[in-house]
Amino acid sequence: MEVNVMQDILGKNDALADAMKADFAARRIFVLNLMGSPGSGKTTLMEATLRALSGEMRIAVIEGDLFTSKDADRIGACGAQVVQINTAGGCHLDAPMVEKALKSLDLDNLDLIVIENVGNLVCPAEFALGEDAKAVVLSVTEGDDKPMKYPLMFKESAVALINKTDLLPFTNFDLPQATEDIKTIHPGAEVLPISATKGDGMDAWFDWLRKKVNAKKEGAV
Ligand code: MG
Ligand code: ZN
Repeated sequence: MEVNVMQDILGKNDALADAMKADFAARRIFVLNLMGSPGSGKTTLMEATLRALSGEMRIAVIEGDLFTSKDADRIGACGAQVVQINTAGGCHLDAPMVEKALKSLDLDNLDLIVIENVGNLVCPAEFALGEDAKAVVLSVTEGDDKPMKYPLMFKESAVALINKTDLLPFTNFDLPQATEDIKTIHPGAEVLPISATKGDGMDAWFDWLRKKVNAKKEGAV
């Protein structure tokens, strides 16, 4: 019974997500579902990304949070279109929430939408939002055991950003081991070590995004 209810919820979510994905395809907007724990650095990553790329592409950010508009305020300060979703305690975004948020965006003038999901390594990976790709941010302060403990998130993500590499000397995080674990869970995944605050590794991330956005523009995604 409970399994059927859950399948029904996911079925309805996926049907709406498919319709949104078709609309994004028609508009040639690349959409990224950005996931990761609270404090992994998702919003800081987006601030740095907007600073680097907003001169060459039109970017909007949808900010998912349990409460407050603190992150949307940070993103808005970078000059991007931004809309906040407050889930009022809900631990993930779903397609109806994103569909509603899209009404606040100028979709005719966008190349990239990044949906920053609620900070959580578990259920955000289960809910499609119409995205072209998922990305996960894992900070070295969280521990290198997280990919094996939360495999779905890493299996679903096309790219895993290992953030706060500037703090590696102060942790026992084993970067080669974490990379190997992620590749075991998801052989096709890109693993990019970065420091969103210091800038290390960020060019590889910008290149990854550029390639995806350009491919979508050319209708190749
Ligand atoms: Mg955030
Ligand atoms: Zn949830």
